[in-house]
Amino acid sequence: MKKISAVLTIVMLIAATAVASAPEQRDSTYQVAPKVPIKAYAFNLDDVRLLDGPFKDAMGRGEKYIMDLEPDRLLSRFREYAGLEPKGKIYGGWESQGISGHTLGHYLTACALAYAATGEKCYLERANYIVDELALCQKANGNGFVGGMPNGKKLFADVAAGKIETANFGLNGGWVPWYTMHKLYAGLVDVYKYCGNEKAKTVLIGLSDWACKLSENLTDEQFQSMLKCEYGGMNDAMANVFALTKEKKYFDLSLRFNDKKVFAPLLRNEDKLEGIHANTQIPKIVGAARQYELSGKEELRKMADFFWETVTQHHSFVNGGSGNAECFQRRGELHKHLSPVASETCGTYNMLKLTRHLFSWTADGRYADYYERALYNHILVTQDPKRGMLMYFCSLKPGHFHTYSSPYDAFWCCTGSGLENHVKYGDSIYFHDDEGLYVNLFIASELNWKEKGIKVRQETRFPNEPKTRLVLSCDNPITGKLRIRHPYWIDSAMQVTVNGKKVEAESQPRGFLTIDRNWADGDVVEVALPMKLRLEKMENCPSKAAIMYGPIVLAGQLGREGFSGKVPYSKYHMVYASMPTPDVPVLITNDKPIDQWVKKVPGDTLKFKTVGVGRPEDVSLIPFHEAHHQRFTVYWDLFTEAQWQEIKEEYEERLRLKRELEEKTVDVVTPDMQPERDHNYQGKGSATGRYHGKMYRHAYPGGWFSYDMMSLGEGPIGLTVTYWGGETGNRVFDIMVDGKKIATQKLSKDKPGEFFKVTYPIPEELTKGKEKITIRFQTHEGAMAGGLYEGRIVKMEKK
Ligand SMILES: [Zn+2]
Repeated sequence: MKKISAVLTIVMLIAATAVASAPEQRDSTYQVAPKVPIKAYAFNLDDVRLLDGPFKDAMGRGEKYIMDLEPDRLLSRFREYAGLEPKGKIYGGWESQGISGHTLGHYLTACALAYAATGEKCYLERANYIVDELALCQKANGNGFVGGMPNGKKLFADVAAGKIETANFGLNGGWVPWYTMHKLYAGLVDVYKYCGNEKAKTVLIGLSDWACKLSENLTDEQFQSMLKCEYGGMNDAMANVFALTKEKKYFDLSLRFNDKKVFAPLLRNEDKLEGIHANTQIPKIVGAARQYELSGKEELRKMADFFWETVTQHHSFVNGGSGNAECFQRRGELHKHLSPVASETCGTYNMLKLTRHLFSWTADGRYADYYERALYNHILVTQDPKRGMLMYFCSLKPGHFHTYSSPYDAFWCCTGSGLENHVKYGDSIYFHDDEGLYVNLFIASELNWKEKGIKVRQETRFPNEPKTRLVLSCDNPITGKLRIRHPYWIDSAMQVTVNGKKVEAESQPRGFLTIDRNWADGDVVEVALPMKLRLEKMENCPSKAAIMYGPIVLAGQLGREGFSGKVPYSKYHMVYASMPTPDVPVLITNDKPIDQWVKKVPGDTLKFKTVGVGRPEDVSLIPFHEAHHQRFTVYWDLFTEAQWQEIKEEYEERLRLKRELEEKTVDVVTPDMQPERDHNYQGKGSATGRYHGKMYRHAYPGGWFSYDMMSLGEGPIGLTVTYWGGETGNRVFDIMVDGKKIATQKLSKDKPGEFFKVTYPIPEELTKGKEKITIRFQTHEGAMAGGLYEGRIVKMEKK
């Protein structure tokens, strides 16, 4: 134990501040303290250092990617749009598109977090440099604004003048401009907090005043209309600016950024999440949680609580991720959505922020349980162990594999949040109150609790070994409570020793075991963490289940079929969505307990095998976070022998047809928000809706809509469209490829009660030599076009 002088302690307390969102007890950053009782305070990220283990490895890769990126390239459009000469060439992917600049905000936060988590000056220097540059851009712009999105000045000036045209991801022709701004606000807050950079605060306040002025003449109706377009956590950002400055106008603006349409049912404890964009909503609730802390408004706490409960219990997969194709699906129907575009990473990144708030208010072990689940089985999974590249979605399609970003031409939203994810693993391992410490996660790390003059070194190879060891060092003996989480996956009594002597204390799963005593330097606490195999069945579909070992999701290893040179790095996050999958074995378990048919392979790594239940063969299982660069499955179909014999032919036929379709598929679009954006949706007099759990798009009389879709360039292809068989009304429309009509379709109760598909061959002269074609659905006079539920370009047989 190194002795820290009192003077040094004070200096460190001032310099270091809280990890984004969850309250910290004596936080010098914020002038407004929480108005609500806080049961468990977060530590400063710089109080915790990771020790060797999978999280530290991931952090190292995350740090490397941060240093690999060039600030001048991320700043390129900020300078350009401020009328200054760019110093670096803009990166590709989303950074060259309408959302450019979003990465810089995340990057600022990532640098600030990496500095707090390591103390390395290189991150501080980068953050400071970027803030200097932003200050120059802000000065050049002259009105407080600074931004990297195309046409930002104009589109926000239009907003100020009351011109507000919104649609999902669009505001006055821009792609989620407030979302992009939110990243910048958050980045500046973090650089002020973690790096003590005063100029960051100055730029932030200039930017906040710009936002106040911009919106001062907007009516509530106009403001709410603006909020139809995804805006990140602007309510959170403004609440934090209020907390930094004590100026009420920022809190007022924060409240205006509350989306009433989404909040209203949640305030009534109603789940109306089906079909809405998941990661658009989660940050709004994080913002509401922060507003509750700063205002004490009880209804906001209840809403945050209800939302968390609803999402984690009815809209989340076993890995803690939620939604499919970025949207919440019908409650309790996730078994229909095991796809390559399930569980977007940003969604879980934001759910973890929300979880930190809820834990701090309640010290309820359930929140820590979810945090652990999502951290091991989603966040840790999303980084490529070879190159440190990041995932957009965490595929849960049985037999699929992971797709990672390419380093300089992807820059998806999840690349941005991913820059932060892997350098802040230290943020939720420990919490505290005046009476003592909470140990929430079993991650090798060292906590330096400066105020108490105590260090806790957690030595563990968990989950590769079923135990952890806490070694205390302190200058003087200290009395207090050590609370060790009793996770949901240990259903027996916790076995804990202090200096080798068994602790007699009661605890329940989802709670904490408390040791209240006088602690001395060198005390050693050993905690047994016995893990068991467990099945987690899907809601409303008990024959589909995931296999878990303690908190760890196990994935079946299914080889590398179909991997070629281009797989698995991509600038397109969904390019492999339609790649064929191999058959995934089914498990004939006959309802027997899982330990009878899954066996651990001896050794200190987590390897398992199914025994005698796999058809056509048994499989090896490893932790999901290790299942990289290969095909895998997380969810299995379970049968008894009798059920299997009965269903076998039909099941195999269904798989055969599915595989046949996948093998023919060139490209797929569904009318969900991001897939439409990826396919350059255009349209007039067109709208989306939801029916039978699926999104559709149609056009009203006089209207049309179109998508750009991949073409083969050579050989015959066709377009297969999925329609609802019960359509009524006048629905007659032409289907056009690059302006040429290829078919006319009339829809009228073609197959009542079910969906059906129509395939339209596309003449080869329309596709030859082309990588992309535009498919347009054009109404006939007085008639509607669609609804289209899915459009798919397929290879056709040669004539
Ligand atoms: Zn994302």
